[in-house]
Amino acid sequence: MRFDSFVQAAGRAPSAGKKECTSLDKRLIINKSWCKGCGICVAFCPKEALELRGGKAALKADGGCVLCGLCEQRCPDFAIFLEETEAEGK
Ligand code: SF4
Ligand code: SF4
Repeated sequence: MRFDSFVQAAGRAPSAGKKECTSLDKRLIINKSWCKGCGICVAFCPKEALELRGGKAALKADGGCVLCGLCEQRCPDFAIFLEETEAEGK
C-alpha cells in the first residue's frame, strides 16, 4: 500500500476546505477520586513528569509528559489515563 493510501485509510488525510476532525490529540487525565496515592505511576514515568501532591498523583508544574501512556498501563486503579480528543484542521 502506498503511503498516501495508508494515510487516507487511517483517516489522517488533509481535508480540502472541509471542517472535520482529521487527527487525534491526547491529554493526560488524573481522576483524583480514584487515586489512592500508591506512587506506582510516579515510579514508572520515564520522564519524571509525575509527583505525589497531597497524597494524589499530579503532573509536575514544569511539565515533561510525553503522553507515552506508561502510567496508564501501571495504575492498578485506572485513575490515570490518556484521553483522546479530536482535533480539527490538522
Ligand atoms: S498509580 Fe494510580 S492510584 Fe497509584 S498514585 Fe498513580 S494514579 Fe494514583
Ligand atoms: S504519559 Fe508517560 S510521560 Fe506522561 S506522565 Fe504518564 S508515564 Fe509520564
